[in-house]
Amino acid sequence: QHQDISRAKSAELFEKAKNFFPGGVNSPVRAFKSVYGTPLFIERGDEAYVWDADGNKFIDFCCSWGPLILGHNNAQIREAVAAQLDKGLSFGAPTRLENELAELILSNNSYIEKLRFVSSGTEAVMSAIRLARGYTKRDKIVKFEGCYHGHSDSLLVKAGSGLVTFGETSSAGVPKSFAEETIVIALDDKKALEEVFIRFPDQIAAVIIEGIPANNGLLLQDQEYIHFLRAITKEHGSLLIFDEVITGFRLGFQGAAHHYAVQPDIITYGKIIGGGMPVGAYGASKEIMSHISPDGGVYQAGTLSGNPIAMVAGIATLTQLAASGFYDKQEQTTKDFVETLRNYIADKNYEVQIFTVGSIFWFAFTAQQRISRAEQIDPQSMEKYKIMHRELLNQGIYFGPSGYEVGFISSAHTEEDLATSIQAIKNALDIVFQ
Ligand code: PMP
Repeated sequence: QHQDISRAKSAELFEKAKNFFPGGVNSPVRAFKSVYGTPLFIERGDEAYVWDADGNKFIDFCCSWGPLILGHNNAQIREAVAAQLDKGLSFGAPTRLENELAELILSNNSYIEKLRFVSSGTEAVMSAIRLARGYTKRDKIVKFEGCYHGHSDSLLVKAGSGLVTFGETSSAGVPKSFAEETIVIALDDKKALEEVFIRFPDQIAAVIIEGIPANNGLLLQDQEYIHFLRAITKEHGSLLIFDEVITGFRLGFQGAAHHYAVQPDIITYGKIIGGGMPVGAYGASKEIMSHISPDGGVYQAGTLSGNPIAMVAGIATLTQLAASGFYDKQEQTTKDFVETLRNYIADKNYEVQIFTVGSIFWFAFTAQQRISRAEQIDPQSMEKYKIMHRELLNQGIYFGPSGYEVGFISSAHTEEDLATSIQAIKNALDIVFQ
């Protein structure tokens, strides 16, 4: 076991932060409740690295939870933001920049025809749900256990007992009556889907799924199941919402929709679309989007929507992603990284799997070769992740502070960064399984 790195300054800042914020943080997972030690307070980032308040340097695989596909402090994004700063921060009026980002997205994406910019993934999904309800004139929505869609009331709902039951709220403060409009079922279960549409005929506005579920482990779904989901929603006049807040622009410009070759009715985006600034979006066909105000009766608005600084960060990001070969290279780099580690794991006979798609990866401490439902994850296995996480920090590798979180590889991760990380991960696994 390596000596623990110093977290003295971070600990001091955390103590202070506890006076200001519940749990000392502005988003719960940052509090390091699921891993060892005090949360690291980050001072700055550059390329694939972050530095904490104690001066420790880490190779970062959290990448701000996904947005930073080009790494930290990307020169083109920084310069675009700096240039825009001279012109003002916000106008609350239309700008040329919104057209530019929209054109970049829509001309490279055949799955949506119009979109609306908002300021977070939560807001994008909340708006998409309202649009689906307004469009279908139905109230109920179906979500899947193990998918996260932000913290709007309708979606903070977990499965009740039984195959198909009304959801139970997963947060205090969500009215029971709201939870009753959300039905939660297991992923990768055709029977449950069939049952839902038998039990609630003509009542389901939409079924929402993460393009590729990546918030509760990486729960890879079969193409055939996704096509079944598409067919059954269509058959019953319900919309299919793909929440691509993580997968959008991560698996390519056309995200999971293209990955599965499936046409959802509404798609939500976030994270990468704003290049590290607060941006989300939802999009659909012209016909569906015509129901949004001021064209239609579904109200949705935002003071900072289409914020100019955020738009230029998005434009600078997507312009770089649109370069030919970008995604192929990311995927190949990730495949090589994962394959090298898998070989080591196989040699050592360690009980750990690495699941991967595009430039996303997830370590699962299990012997199961396939995990497609939340219930298949053993909460006990997270104890092993905790050990690995601590050891990785000690060796200068920053993974998300929970074993349910996926890792991301950015284009800023060099071959050398990855080789260093592979060695550190091998060492960490040796300690986990010693
Ligand atoms: N949907 C998905 C699939 C997400 O991963 C997230 C955030 N992790 C959200 C919605 C919510 O986005 P935000 O945190 O920007 O509100």
